[in-house]
Amino acid sequence: MRATLMYGAGDVRVETVPDARLIEPTDALVRITRACICGSDLWPYRKMPATDSGRRMGHEFIGVVDAVGRDVRTVRRGDLVVAPFVWSDGTCVFCREGLQTSCLHGGGWGSPDVDGGQGEAVRVPQADGTLVVLPVGRDDVLMPSLLTLSDVMGTGHHAALAARVEPGKTVAVVGDGAVGLCGVIAARRLGAEQIIMLGRHADRITLAREFGATDIVRERGDEAIERVRELTGDLGAHSVLECVGYEESVRTALSITRAGGAVGRVGVPQDPSIPLAKESFFDNITIGGGPAPVRAYIEELLPDVLEGRIQPGRVFDRVTNLEGVPDGYRAMNDRKSIKVMVEP
Ligand SMILES: [Zn+2]
Repeated sequence: MRATLMYGAGDVRVETVPDARLIEPTDALVRITRACICGSDLWPYRKMPATDSGRRMGHEFIGVVDAVGRDVRTVRRGDLVVAPFVWSDGTCVFCREGLQTSCLHGGGWGSPDVDGGQGEAVRVPQADGTLVVLPVGRDDVLMPSLLTLSDVMGTGHHAALAARVEPGKTVAVVGDGAVGLCGVIAARRLGAEQIIMLGRHADRITLAREFGATDIVRERGDEAIERVRELTGDLGAHSVLECVGYEESVRTALSITRAGGAVGRVGVPQDPSIPLAKESFFDNITIGGGPAPVRAYIEELLPDVLEGRIQPGRVFDRVTNLEGVPDGYRAMNDRKSIKVMVEP
């Protein structure tokens, strides 16, 4: 079968690899119908040292179950399923608490013997705990929005929860990528009154406004901090969603948080420390977040997608096939595309 491998920074190839297959009795074999490229795939795309063997890519997908192991109970051959960006057993102490990203028996896509999502098929470990059956046909018009439940919509929701968004609150979103835009959707869904988006690209701003952003801050650095302060009566925002991961963006996030407020971090940290330790301490700012347990959120967000109350699939502005994946990485890295959908 064909699948995507990254060999180093800027070096993405689509190659023929061994066919995905069942190994454990708890596995499912899923033939992928939709996948995508993630903003977090761009970190290795910029930094990964060159290798000879390459690394299988992709952690967001929807597909049709082709076969299941003898111990699988909740999914059957022919089911259309969505997978979260990590797999999990659904039964351990952390899964029962809704923190499937810390599953004692879980792991990531693209690790040895587990395929990546940017390919034709995937071996899904712990299929009962991992997969969620979708009650629609495989080419349903809602497919882009359903696909965001595998990562970006759940991650935006996690940022909003970690930042303690509630009805009436003022929210600021740092990062205008797909996750930041989904963070706007999540903040509005949770009842935020004012939603300030920090971003400067016209297409992203337009989408942010349609998703519910009330104010746009195009400035950067200290000017952006000043502008948010103006918009919030010099107090800062109650809830700040940090959807980038650079030290500079975390600094901005902490600088625009109101005393007693909270920052929800979902941008994968690219630096070893969190800035402004003293300032945030004296302002009683809560710093939360981490990888989103999107498996826990799929069931919560799915009705809103199915009934059209949220349309996170609008973050996809480019569609390609498997052979076009390397171009898709380039487009996202050059910020020519917000998010690329892959139809193998
Ligand atoms: Zn678990």
